[in-house]
Amino acid sequence: MSSSDSLDGLNCVVTGGAQGIGYATALTLARRRGAVAILDLDGELARHGAARITAATGARALGIGCDVRAQASVDSAIAQAVRHLGTVHVLVNNAGIMTPRLAPVADMAAGDFEDMLSVHVRGTFLCSRAAIPFMERARYGRIINISSVLGLVGVPFRIGYAAAKTAINGITRSMAVELARKGVTVNAIAPGYILTDTLRTRLQEGKLDYATHAERAPVGRWGLPEEVAHAIAFLALPTSGFITGAVIPVDGGITIRGDAGEDLGPRPTSMDDVQALFDRNP
Ligand code: NAD
Repeated sequence: MSSSDSLDGLNCVVTGGAQGIGYATALTLARRRGAVAILDLDGELARHGAARITAATGARALGIGCDVRAQASVDSAIAQAVRHLGTVHVLVNNAGIMTPRLAPVADMAAGDFEDMLSVHVRGTFLCSRAAIPFMERARYGRIINISSVLGLVGVPFRIGYAAAKTAINGITRSMAVELARKGVTVNAIAPGYILTDTLRTRLQEGKLDYATHAERAPVGRWGLPEEVAHAIAFLALPTSGFITGAVIPVDGGITIRGDAGEDLGPRPTSMDDVQALFDRNP
């Protein structure tokens, strides 16, 4: 691996890293030689994930129970990560929840709306605020916020999620300008539909339809968590210092689609070849 592909010597915090996109990200960062702290509401799963990452890569990894909505919990988790790793260079604000009950605006429970803002927006703010002083001291920082295509296009019945992800795009741009001369870049990744265990369960329960959302993407399929992780790891690299304030879709083209539904040809029937790329060449 060339040094431009390496996170050697860099300490990375991934919130919500016990499963899904966050776990794939923590594993990818570790494969690129970063040390990793997983912060997750499920501390047990976070510790288990960290142990699996160390076993698979030999990288330093620790799991810490943390609620990103709670200031004391965040401050103490970041302090614990710093105690174990030395400092924080990379923060991936990934912890998130899906809309629990899809509902028209007129029927949306205020509590459901506020939960979305609390985990995604307050969580991103609190974690960034706790980590930034260490990045400034190190003169190196990479903050990568996980937004969504739903922060870029309009989709009904998810106003809280849309508000939260749109706010994350604003936080990204504002912090990017503020921190640009301190060696800290701030970017966001906006994933499309990604096959995490959480969404696989929703597919199995019939709450989501694979084909409907695959067809919306010009590439004709959902994404894998590893494909999002790959983009996050790229932004974390020392060689990505000229990219800041960007909201980068990793969405199979959903957000650039402007056609009226013309036939784009058959959709891929399997994602095994994509998965194999990551299994063969981590
Ligand atoms: P997931 O459900 O697989 O994992 C989310 C993790 O976040 C879980 O481990 C959970 O315990 C943790 N978490 C939830 N609330 C927390 C809190 N208060 N404090 C700390 N940890 C908390 O989800 P995922 O699909 O991997 O999603 C990860 C991120 O990507 C989220 O921000 C989500 O909005 C975003 N996203 C996902 C998709 C997708 O299709 N899966 C698409 C666009 C954006």
